Amino acid sequence: MESSFDPWSPPALRLVCLDIDDTLINCTAALRRTLHALTGRGDMWPLWDLITEEHVALVVAGKIEYASMHERRTECFLAELGVVVDAAEVLSFERRRRELLSRSWRLFDDVLPCLDWLRAAGVLLAAITNASGAHQRAKIADLGLAPYFDHVAIAGELGVAKPDPVIFTSVCLALDCALTATVHVGDKLDTDAVGARDAGLGAVWLDRDDTGLATPDGVHLISGLAELPELLVSEFATIGVPAPRTQRDPLVRARDRVS
Ligand SMILES: [Mg+2]
Repeated sequence: MESSFDPWSPPALRLVCLDIDDTLINCTAALRRTLHALTGRGDMWPLWDLITEEHVALVVAGKIEYASMHERRTECFLAELGVVVDAAEVLSFERRRRELLSRSWRLFDDVLPCLDWLRAAGVLLAAITNASGAHQRAKIADLGLAPYFDHVAIAGELGVAKPDPVIFTSVCLALDCALTATVHVGDKLDTDAVGARDAGLGAVWLDRDDTGLATPDGVHLISGLAELPELLVSEFATIGVPAPRTQRDPLVRARDRVS
C-alpha cells in the first residue's frame, strides 16, 4: 500500500507576498520625473537611489528611527548637491516631492493580470513594503490594489524593514502560513529576494531591467510578472487551478472603478 507522504512532491503554496515599489508600481519613473522637476536635472535618480539604500540600511541596523529617515535622506541628498538648508526647508522640499509623486504613480501593465491570476488560484496575497505608512497606504488604495491583499505590511508602521527576517515572518504569522508555504516576489535582489530566502521563504527576484546580474542560489529569476504563474505552477504543483472570474467579483468591480 502506498504511503500518502511523498518526499519528492513540491511544497504547497498558500501565500504570495509582493513588494510594492518598482514591483507593482513604476516608482522609479515617477521619482525620476519628480526629481527632474524639483532640481531641473535629469540625472539625479542614481544619487537618490543610493542615498535611499544607505538610509534604509541605517534603519535596519537600528541606527536611526524610521520616522526620521525621510527628512534625513532629503537633507543628505541636498547636501550632496551642495545645497545647505535648514529643517523647515528640508520639510518643504519633502512636501513638494510627495505632492508631485502622488500625481505620477502608475501600475506596470503586467500587474493586474498577475494579481487576478493569483486570486483565482486561491492563494493568499500580502504586500510587504519598505515605505512609510500613510502615503504608501494611500498609493495602494488610489491605484486599486487594496482589495487584492489579505494583509499589508509596511516598514514604517512596523519599525522593521526588509531584509530583516522579522518583517517576513510577521506576515506569515498574521496569515497563519508556514514560511515554507510562502513566496516573496520583489525587484531588489538583496532586500527582497535574498532577504526572503534567508528568512526561509521561497524567493523570486523580479529583474524588470534584465540586468544580467548573477542570480544567487535559492533565488528564482523572472523579468516580468507575466512569468510568475508558470514559475509558481512549476515549483509549487499544489497551487490551485484558476477559475473563470465574473463581473460580480468585488476585485473586478474595484479595478473597473479605477481604470
Ligand atoms: Mg521595490
